[in-house]
Amino acid sequence: PKSYKDRQVVVLGLARSGVSVAKLFHKLGALVTVNDQQERHLCPEADELDALGVSVICGGHPDSLITKDTALVVKNPGIPYTAAPVKRAMELGLDVVTEVEVAYWLSPAPIIGITGSNGKTTTTTWIGELLDSAQLRPIVAGNIGTPLCEAAQTAEPGDWIVAELSSFQLKGTQSFRPRVALLLNIAETHLDYHDGIEDYIASKEKLFANQTEEDTAVLNADDPVCRELMDKGTIRAKILPFSTTQELSQGIFISPPFPTDLTEPDGEVLRQIVWKKQDGVTQTIMPVNELGLPGRHNAANALAAIAACIAAGADPKSLLQPLRDFNGVEDRLEFVCERKGVKYYNDSKATNSVATIIALRSFPGRIVLIAGGRDRGLDFMELVPHMRDQVKGIVTIGETREKLAAVARLAGLSAVKIVEPVEDAEATLHLAVREAASIAEPGDIVLLSPACASWDMFKSYEQRGRIFKQSAHTL
Ligand code: ADP
Repeated sequence: PKSYKDRQVVVLGLARSGVSVAKLFHKLGALVTVNDQQERHLCPEADELDALGVSVICGGHPDSLITKDTALVVKNPGIPYTAAPVKRAMELGLDVVTEVEVAYWLSPAPIIGITGSNGKTTTTTWIGELLDSAQLRPIVAGNIGTPLCEAAQTAEPGDWIVAELSSFQLKGTQSFRPRVALLLNIAETHLDYHDGIEDYIASKEKLFANQTEEDTAVLNADDPVCRELMDKGTIRAKILPFSTTQELSQGIFISPPFPTDLTEPDGEVLRQIVWKKQDGVTQTIMPVNELGLPGRHNAANALAAIAACIAAGADPKSLLQPLRDFNGVEDRLEFVCERKGVKYYNDSKATNSVATIIALRSFPGRIVLIAGGRDRGLDFMELVPHMRDQVKGIVTIGETREKLAAVARLAGLSAVKIVEPVEDAEATLHLAVREAASIAEPGDIVLLSPACASWDMFKSYEQRGRIFKQSAHTL
């Protein structure tokens, strides 16, 4: 890394990662200015940074922050490139990077970088547990856990930084070179947040841009964008592909493969996870149905995680226990408890129909679904066939309660219960859980997978998930 001693560094965005970047450059002897759009009283760390001698400017992004003497701009991934100081820095040809780039400069430990549209948090967390079991000393960081710069400072040679990365973080990298890079999938639904698909894909491609033959690129052979990337021939790293739907000439896959059209219910055939090595030797890892998490999407996440660990040098045998025992991440098809033979799952993170369909497909058994929330004007018709096949009863809440009940009736469900709001959101959800419990029979699953955002009733999907779990526990 270049030396920033006595040079001007501007940190844009005072979130947790910005604070950690500011402290870091201050420690390295740089003249640090931090800037946030929010008013000062909304920036809790402002006083602490002030006391250190960092200059803190709040309440806007003045472009006067940036001069030709600025040596480096580190920007929060959420700040757009159209913000005044960022534009000015670009015009002056200054280095504008995100925290990931800085963490890469500093880290004595190699980095496993995980990105994709869906499954990042699950896969990142799982890799952490797997590497731990393989005694490869993971530090889980990025969007989850510790800010990357903090992880980079505490890491020692022999550790592995396991980093969940968004495309916004990747967009602001230059020399960033993960030892192992994972691209899980690219879903169209995420594209509206970006300028367009090219920009989004280009950001994801930056993950591989600086890799060499010593590194590994883990890619999803079932994803059309990943396939295109592999075929393009621009990736210099060793490619370790994974697939749930096809046998590969080398890589991690499921045998026999899952059919792509979902005609056959999961769980009917004994499927094995296998690793076919470069030399053609095949090693069976474990049966898919023993994985700790349900659903094909989680089987794909598991394959990606296994591939990453193998690339990091783990013995596949050391991965078996945490592949079986992993309980998932909070609010993502999280197992809560079993009451009177009924299992309760919290999928509060499912804020759209696609996520709810994924959840419904994940259970071979009969589901009592709790759904509903903020009304964004959608009609939920795509849920009909999945409700018909997988759902025996539904309890609806929130602004969309009537709409979802109508969809359920269209799917032919007889147990449809609309819960009208009672004194507060907590009491309403409690009531919904009790209604679901009264419909469910032993062997059934009660699933909170709302297909809607939570803001009509709750502060966040996390709060909705927590209240659901309390309700289930107190049944
Ligand atoms: P991210 O961190 O990318 O948002 P999460 O691991 O938090 O992903 O999972 C969020 C939701 O995305 C899950 O509840 C599930 O509905 C869906 N999901 C998870 N993994 C996958 C996958 N591999 N493919 C498609 N959807 C997935």
